[in-house]
Amino acid sequence: MAIRRPNYSRKTEIVHGTDRGRSEAGDLVPPIHMTSAFEFKNADHGAALFAGEKDGYIYTRIANPTVGRMEAKIARLEKCAAAVATGSGMAAIAAVALTLAKPGDNFVASTTLYGGTFNLFTQRLRNFGIEARLVPPEKANSRQAITSRIDARTRFLFMETPANPTLDIIDIAVWADAARTHNAACIVDNTFATPYLQNPATLGADIVVHSATKYIGGHADVIGGVITGSREMMSRIREEYLHSFGPVMSPFNAWLFLRGLKTLAIRMEKHCENARQVADWLQSQRVVRKVYYPGLATHPNHQVAKTQMRAFGGMLAFEVKGGIQAGKTIMDKVRLCRLAVSLGDCETLIQHPASMTHSTYSRSERLEAGINDGLIRLSVGIENPVDIESDLEGAFKQI
Ligand SMILES: *Cc1c(COP(=O)(O)O)cnc(C)c1O
Repeated sequence: MAIRRPNYSRKTEIVHGTDRGRSEAGDLVPPIHMTSAFEFKNADHGAALFAGEKDGYIYTRIANPTVGRMEAKIARLEKCAAAVATGSGMAAIAAVALTLAKPGDNFVASTTLYGGTFNLFTQRLRNFGIEARLVPPEKANSRQAITSRIDARTRFLFMETPANPTLDIIDIAVWADAARTHNAACIVDNTFATPYLQNPATLGADIVVHSATKYIGGHADVIGGVITGSREMMSRIREEYLHSFGPVMSPFNAWLFLRGLKTLAIRMEKHCENARQVADWLQSQRVVRKVYYPGLATHPNHQVAKTQMRAFGGMLAFEVKGGIQAGKTIMDKVRLCRLAVSLGDCETLIQHPASMTHSTYSRSERLEAGINDGLIRLSVGIENPVDIESDLEGAFKQI
């Protein structure tokens, strides 16, 4: 049973969640409902659940109490009415795209995207007769560039901000307004910012997607995704996509996400503080040509970032002099920073987008998206930032 509570601040809500209902045993932490099906009280009860006349659980692909708690918490943090959890971030994005678009339809997306999303958009969806119309980064904040790509068969607009891996910032309100005018849905991948730093729905976005694998989990131990939006849209995605295609989140994973979420606020504050410090330090390094971090006044969209984000996040990228070879040397010589894709974990992760996460792009597509050969991406962890800097400094000396 949900208990009515006053509205607490975001930080308190992140710790306590939205539902303090007491379980039968009085567990302080929600139990894991690790069950495939739920037993009906009798034949009439089962029939009433199937007919939708009674609330209750039937089967975990349809709904599960632990997964439901995770969904409710994300919906609340994103200031949306409802959420749908999925088995991965890619499953969340595919669910939204394939629910909204049918063969012959198209959508507009920013070019600088997570590598898997780019592959889904430009390769897989094409096999379903759904066309991606890409907006290059230098035009991503131009309303004209967006609307010129929209026609009567445009079902949605999709963007990532901050974008992976260049940390480009896109003005969400501009895209949301263009979408509304043309009767399309505005979708934002909010993985990099997290609901703690940015709430796209308050800027007009209709649907927000996350790879929960990253900051929401926060500990590099679980894969999952989540979609949030209106109650009507979430029911549609659940019924038209999840029930039939089946990429649901495991109750155990939902429990891990609820566990990770409790520390989202303090983790994000430390990630932001460390990233800022490392970005400043990188700017003073002789071997560094350019630093990409939305918190720097030199970032081309710093002002937009300032208005739509509460702080600038824990992700940054930089280019070193000496191109790909120098980049490889750095990745081979760091000792503290871990050479791995993924992001948003407690430990600092380093990777080379051109050969790793963005190898799904052709070289020309990649350069068009602003991802140079020598670009290095850093997911700044929550360690003492001085140790991150001295680790990088040691590697820089080997170039
Ligand atoms: C990781 C990531 C995804 C994909 O999520 P998975 O959980 O790996 O499927 C999508 N978008 C962004 C921005 C990501 O970082």
